[in-house]
Amino acid sequence: MKTIIEKIENIKTDHQIIRRAGEILLSGGTVAFPTETVYGLGANALDPSSIKKIFKAKGRPSDNPLIVHIADLADIDSLVSKIPPIAKTLMEHFWPGALTLIFSKSSKVPYEITGGLDTVAIRFPVHPIAQEIIKAAGVPIAAPSANLSGKPSPTKAAHVIEDLKGKVDMIVDGGAASIGLESTVLDITGKIPMILRPGGVTKEMLETVVGPILMDPALSQGQEQDFIPKAPGMKYKHYAPVAEVKVVMGEINAVTEKIQELTKKNKGNLKIGIMATDQTRSSYDEINALVISVGDRLHPETIANHLFDALRWFDEQKVDLIYAEGIQEVQMGIAIMNRLIKAAGYQTIFAESKGGENK
Ligand code: AMP
Ligand code: MG
Repeated sequence: MKTIIEKIENIKTDHQIIRRAGEILLSGGTVAFPTETVYGLGANALDPSSIKKIFKAKGRPSDNPLIVHIADLADIDSLVSKIPPIAKTLMEHFWPGALTLIFSKSSKVPYEITGGLDTVAIRFPVHPIAQEIIKAAGVPIAAPSANLSGKPSPTKAAHVIEDLKGKVDMIVDGGAASIGLESTVLDITGKIPMILRPGGVTKEMLETVVGPILMDPALSQGQEQDFIPKAPGMKYKHYAPVAEVKVVMGEINAVTEKIQELTKKNKGNLKIGIMATDQTRSSYDEINALVISVGDRLHPETIANHLFDALRWFDEQKVDLIYAEGIQEVQMGIAIMNRLIKAAGYQTIFAESKGGENK
């Protein structure tokens, strides 16, 4: 399949690219486009045969439902059977933005999108290119992340081209995603809202607006969990580069010492990558490994921003094993650690602090 690749420099003047993307979507094709979270692979959400093309291009299991993207609040009415009062408050505060809400679906939403569930996930992205493309299509757009299933999500057009060139009709390059992690998925069909996937909008941000929020218990379990995640996609292997990833957790000095020790044990047969932070980068100056800083621990949003790009970069460098420093699981750190631990296939190492301190 020939993939049209277009770059939008200026949304005001590049109208013909937006129009073309809209036409392809409306005629049943697939278009990858930027959003503020990660790049999405779009298709007409109301048309089962268009939706199937997304699953095929990504190699996505058919029971992993897609998020429906809208660019006008009024579009929600035809997609859901009921809008609970809490949804109105959440939409007012967080839409457009990185929050996906789960509603009871209307009969108009095909089961191909919801993986057979009676609920539908909806998001109103804030990215102007995403909004304009959805408006140009004139229909709601199903758009999962525009990567091959299982690989790190795409935060730049180059990532999408690497995974999907030749498999989709069009890729619209609109620069790097500003958040760099997927949206928060919040189920509001029960009594108390529950986060099914942590993401760009944190639990703390939600709680200041609507009070207590639950986390899906499956999120805090390891691989051998008894809990089945309520977001079907969360049970699959995810975000994984080709290289093996191990996350080293603990107090910051213990973590850097542990990574130094583990790297020194390697007798040169493995190419090792270290995913450090601005605060720790120089601790590895003497170490025989490829070291990058993924961001500033005091500003976890900078880490969110570079995480997936860093994982892909290590693959480009043909690294065999990546030691990634864990970060504090608060606010955005929760979503970052959720992605990192999955990328590691749950391989975590706890670095014991010297002096018996256990944190
Ligand atoms: P992605 O499209 O790659 O961003 O992934 C979408 C995430 O939302 C996956 O984890 C899905 O399982 C989850 N999701 C989508 N629709 C629903 C739904 N109706 N109920 C629960 N989780 C959903
Ligand atoms: Mg995805």
